[in-house]
Amino acid sequence: LILLTGLLSALFMSAASWLLLTLYQRPGKEIMQGIKRGQFHVEYQPLVTAHDGQPYGVEALLRWTHPTEGMIPPDAFISNAEAQNLIIPLTQHLFKLVARDAKFLCQQLPRGTRMSLNLSPLHLASESFRQHVQEWIADMPKDHFNYVFEITERTMVGERNAGEIFAWLHEQDIKIAIDDFGTGHSALIYLERYPFDYLKIDRGFVQSIGTETVTSPVLDAVLLLAKKLNLKTVAEGVETGDQAAWLVNRGVTHLQGYLFSRPLRPENLISYYQRQAALG
Ligand code: C2E
Ligand code: MG
Ligand code: MG
Ligand code: MG
Repeated sequence: LILLTGLLSALFMSAASWLLLTLYQRPGKEIMQGIKRGQFHVEYQPLVTAHDGQPYGVEALLRWTHPTEGMIPPDAFISNAEAQNLIIPLTQHLFKLVARDAKFLCQQLPRGTRMSLNLSPLHLASESFRQHVQEWIADMPKDHFNYVFEITERTMVGERNAGEIFAWLHEQDIKIAIDDFGTGHSALIYLERYPFDYLKIDRGFVQSIGTETVTSPVLDAVLLLAKKLNLKTVAEGVETGDQAAWLVNRGVTHLQGYLFSRPLRPENLISYYQRQAALG
């Protein structure tokens, strides 16, 4: 009986979530139309090196300006794109937009600037993935940027060949960041199993700094672990000087957040780099 109720409730839950998804999903037609009509653009959020606050690289973040609803945040369309099999065309569009911006950005941003892109596990697992990556790199300014692909832990859960794909990315000189670490399907085993270069500490952890009566013991442990595994660490969502100081004290290597800069359009990103260079 327990088994049956369990089964029934699982069935009910999945039906309910399916229904919710179908009701709230932005129709795929709209996303495809958005691509064709040029409603997407990319903003670039700087990351800084912890010890001197100087820019280290940028993370490309997709933006959708919907004709009637205005700005729709990526959290509200990426999962829909994934659910409707549109994440691959959307990521190819992202590749195209980034390559276009990069032709302009490479004239102003220093050689060796990190360029991070968020990739969907579904794309990574697809047959065409390697070809798409190679085409994108061929389309980017030669030898100017250092690439990082940010991948959430979901990838490892669903993708059996993750190890092979990661090795291939390293052969292409693309670094790998585990994104939003500490949320969702966190499993420490992945840190040992896969060759990550960066660990991105989720904003949730950063927000809790200073607000907890005891300073985040879990975050402390994660940072220690990253150090032992020789991973660079990026703290995301840093908003206050206190948070930054706490993180720097504990050896975080890179910081990202509104304290330094919001995501910026290419022209504004260039001004940001110029201002930082002037400050020294
Ligand atoms: P993420 O990769 O963890 O990106 C960081 C998110 O935190 C961005 O939100 C950024 O704007 C926001 N953020 C940065 N600093 C601060 C801060 O100091 N305070 C606060 N409150 N927020 C901050 P955004 O741009 O809305 O993106 C949300 C998520 O959508 C991203 O999370 C990423 O997982 C996904 N995403 C964005 N662009 C793409 C894309 O091109 N492809 C894929 N597959 N996913 C994307
Ligand atoms: Mg990211
Ligand atoms: Mg993140
Ligand atoms: Mg995040």
